[in-house]
Amino acid sequence: MGLEEKAGNLGVITTTLEAAVNWGRTRAMWPMLFGLACCAIEMMATQASDYDLSRFGMEINRASPRQADLMIVAGRVTRKMGPVVRQLYDQMSDPKWVIAMGDCASTGGVYNNYAVVQGVDEIVPVDVYVAGCPPRPEALIHGIMLLHAKVMRERLAPRGEARALRLDANGRQLVTAGSR
Ligand code: SF4
Repeated sequence: MGLEEKAGNLGVITTTLEAAVNWGRTRAMWPMLFGLACCAIEMMATQASDYDLSRFGMEINRASPRQADLMIVAGRVTRKMGPVVRQLYDQMSDPKWVIAMGDCASTGGVYNNYAVVQGVDEIVPVDVYVAGCPPRPEALIHGIMLLHAKVMRERLAPRGEARALRLDANGRQLVTAGSR
């Protein structure tokens, strides 16, 4: 179905520049190709044919941070790995977003010890937290949909007021916390 058929005989479509830019950003949000632990297996399943992340314009994982605008932190982050994650984040160009996938990336999870970062938001600003050990692909997709909804509300001005979302294992929003 073409745009003409959807728009009917209106002839003219009006929108704002912000809405058009944000729509484009959500339809071509390319994740960075990396995984840290078991959660990455579910992330890979999300991208495979059953769940088909390419429906959302996200089928291309970029091996270079310079070509990626979404960091999905899938797995626990060790203290040794922390500086590497931060460097990768810094190498991504703006605008960029971060999803903390799973309990370990969000809070340290079962690894409550000195060797593991107790939440990747100690290192990079997180936009959406997806709970679960590991979260199912449906939960990750729900987190991505929430991120898209968040991006659609973003201003083209600096993102100082951006807020993070926390999700429970069923993908429901828990609290609004943190800021860039
Ligand atoms: S949340 Fe669970 S599945 Fe994910 S990295 Fe931690 S232990 Fe592994």
